[in-house]
Amino acid sequence: NNEEAAAKAAAVNADSGTPTIFDKIIAKEISSTIVYEDEKVLAFRDINPQAPVHVLIIPKLRDGLTMLGKAEARHGEILSHLLYTAKIVAEKEGILDGFRVVINNGPDACQSVYHLHLHVLGGRQMKWPPG
Ligand code: C5P
Repeated sequence: NNEEAAAKAAAVNADSGTPTIFDKIIAKEISSTIVYEDEKVLAFRDINPQAPVHVLIIPKLRDGLTMLGKAEARHGEILSHLLYTAKIVAEKEGILDGFRVVINNGPDACQSVYHLHLHVLGGRQMKWPPG
């Protein structure tokens, strides 16, 4: 289907170091609704929300992390900081009673932007398993 085809097309650039749309969001060349920001990470609302709260958390420096599957030991600190930021965002958004953190990795998971990002979803009853 279309979603799978788009995911496969996006994956072609995964290893090329090509900038993504998230670089423009980080540089504030494209506007986004920022929920949290510090020197290392940026959290902003997803333009196509899948739940009442849908926030993306990204490292400001991609540093090879096009996807979680490219993680190396040296990324431990930023990976930890991204996950902790998910809690900060959930707290700010008032969804600590129930939220989900998702990382889509690669074409089979329909990853579409090759700059590591955590999805924080909540504000409604989530279902399991996800599709
Ligand atoms: O995990 P995946 O790579 O599919 O997620 C990318 C996410 O980035 C999508 O949920 C999409 O809606 C979001 N996006 C965005 N702003 C853009 C481009 C994509 O919030 N300009």
